[in-house]
Amino acid sequence: MWADVDLDALAHNLARIGELAGPNVRRILVVKADAYGHGAVAIAHHAVRCGVDALGVSTSGEALELRGSGVRAPILILGTVLEEELSDCLQNDVQIGLHSMDRLRRLERLASRQRAPVRVHLKIDTGMGRLGVLPERALELLRAIRQSRHLELAGVMTHIAAADGARSDSTRAQLARFEQVLGPARSEGLLTGWVHCANSACLFTGLRPLYDAVRPGISAYGVLPPELPGAHDLEPVLALRAQIVYLKDLPSGERVGYDGTWAAQRRTRVATLPLGYNDGLPWRISNAGWALVRGRRVPIIGRVSMDYAMLDVTDVRGVRVGDVATLIGRDGADEIRVEELARAAGTIPYEITCSVGKRVRRIYRGGELPPRELPRLAPERRAAEGTTRRLSESALRPML
Ligand SMILES: *Cc1c(COP(=O)(O)O)cnc(C)c1O
Repeated sequence: MWADVDLDALAHNLARIGELAGPNVRRILVVKADAYGHGAVAIAHHAVRCGVDALGVSTSGEALELRGSGVRAPILILGTVLEEELSDCLQNDVQIGLHSMDRLRRLERLASRQRAPVRVHLKIDTGMGRLGVLPERALELLRAIRQSRHLELAGVMTHIAAADGARSDSTRAQLARFEQVLGPARSEGLLTGWVHCANSACLFTGLRPLYDAVRPGISAYGVLPPELPGAHDLEPVLALRAQIVYLKDLPSGERVGYDGTWAAQRRTRVATLPLGYNDGLPWRISNAGWALVRGRRVPIIGRVSMDYAMLDVTDVRGVRVGDVATLIGRDGADEIRVEELARAAGTIPYEITCSVGKRVRRIYRGGELPPRELPRLAPERRAAEGTTRRLSESALRPML
């Protein structure tokens, strides 16, 4: 089993996000949770090559993993960290969300011991009720940052709670509270860096203003929250596939899987796939989901287990051990989108991609930049390069 990760689709989605955001708005690509299961290091490197301005993560471990892999772009921890993680963040030029006066004082003490200023983004809680200072306390913090010799305000942010972004009244209320801080802060000259609030839902519902930067996550991976139906010209980045490892014909009446929740109504050809709920196929899809085999849609039968899932492939002509089954992605004319799988499993798309487990090998496809960004080559060298590229791409293909 493996996950195909299409870097060209990522580039396409980032360009689409750029168009929606407009030319003067920066893109902070959110790559928390291992880039929503796509592999943060590869995604971050390619996104930086595609021109994103910064990367957003959740934990210091995620930030340090990216720095360790050679990412030099700004990295912002969107949430907060524990006291003992601070010095690692400072030493690795990781920007952090600031949420309280206590933290500000602590950061100042740490920062005074190093030469470079510590860059922080003040996070304001305008209605999410999770992290961030309440608006009433925000100005006081902004003034303290301004007075500090060691801290530099790199941004002011808030996070929108409504899954349907700009279409929700609560979003307007959140923005009004945000403005109650931004207005006075502007007139006191306290604002430096980027003001940012929009996630994918806000961006794709046309929220305005977008301020200085947007923070898309899920849309960059070609998936949209279910509240935002419609064609948005995003390309799915992830496909999840496995080869059939076993085939057998069960007589009518035989049962399949834990608790025998599925029984054969006819003589049934059952295919076993070596992937289960540890690998991104939700347990809740038992007896309710689909896979594509030889371009045909076939039902998942019985309970999905940790390492295995079974398909009814009776109607697939010529099916063989080794055939590829697609659980997420395209096969021929048909496609199973993350959104569809999530709906069938009664969960949100985010949970699906994030749960593609560690043992699923990620295979990165594409990722060549458009020619204008490549160094100039003589025509004959370019032709030779083309050959190598094709070769290396096929070398990446899993063995079938
Ligand atoms: C996860 C996250 C985002 C990205 O949200 P999407 O819905 O994936 O676009 C943006 N901002 C913050 C603070 C986040 O935690």
